[in-house]
Amino acid sequence: MQSNGPSPFAAGLAALHSPVLPLVRLVQLLYLTGPFTMMDEVLGQLTEPIDTGNVVYDTPDTLLLPYLPLLKEFERFKNAAPWPRIVLNEDQTEIDLFDSVESWVSQEILTSELEKINSLLCWHCQCTLCCAGPDTTMRQLFFEIPLSPGETDLFQLQRIDSPESRRHTAQCDPVLLRDGRPFYETPPALYNWRTGQSLILPRGTSCPHLESDKGYCRIYPQRPEVCRRPQIFAYVLERQPDLDRQVDDRILPAFISCRKLLAIWDCPYVKEFQEEIADYAALCGVEVLFKQNKA
Ligand code: SF4
Ligand code: SF4
Repeated sequence: MQSNGPSPFAAGLAALHSPVLPLVRLVQLLYLTGPFTMMDEVLGQLTEPIDTGNVVYDTPDTLLLPYLPLLKEFERFKNAAPWPRIVLNEDQTEIDLFDSVESWVSQEILTSELEKINSLLCWHCQCTLCCAGPDTTMRQLFFEIPLSPGETDLFQLQRIDSPESRRHTAQCDPVLLRDGRPFYETPPALYNWRTGQSLILPRGTSCPHLESDKGYCRIYPQRPEVCRRPQIFAYVLERQPDLDRQVDDRILPAFISCRKLLAIWDCPYVKEFQEEIADYAALCGVEVLFKQNKA
């Protein structure tokens, strides 16, 4: 990916070098220690550049504006609004309310920022790894692309939705049979599993939207959420449905605090920009974890 001209990765690298989370933490502190009722008041005062020592933010108010709804989560410390989530340590003990809110906000902001960074870096790689099933050198028999209900309409593929499929997951043993064969030995299709819907790409197949000669996605602007977010992931919180709790008449969703950033080693830009990703994680105050996924 090296070249002598301007790097096509410049925009993605610039974003990696200036994460918004350190600025968010500064704003949290200003809000909680200052005479502000609403977060909007803090943003209204950030009209000059801010230098945190590691990053200079030229227009902090503009940069933070898209994240204002998330920043407003901190207003509950002044208006006593209830917190509608359960966040636990890895040993399942409770963490305090501030850490709980801060972890949630960090997870959401990192997820949003990394979606942009991943898109900027992936677009220039001409790589199709995320869009094809395993090749014969890999141990996996299929790859699964989870989809939300509205996203299945993006794919003109056979839909497998039966009482049998709804009793299984893609990882179940014994496996779901389709026409007497394991589902992963049949053509790509959309499945409705016990755990939700997904596109299954068996060995040697690829997503119908992949322009394989040129290595690009034909529906790139509309691609499913899961396709927008590889291969650097926010892993500050992990959803744990088994730990959900009923409080009064509501079920509160539960999460485990992990405070990590997950980067998948299979991806060429993760390998190329390992140091930059580690620096980004350090600036964001989370531990980076590099992991091989497909092998
Ligand atoms: S929808 Fe596009 S990005 Fe997602 S797997 Fe298919 S080709 Fe790849
Ligand atoms: S492995 Fe990385 S570069 Fe390749 S398609 Fe996936 S996100 Fe893009």
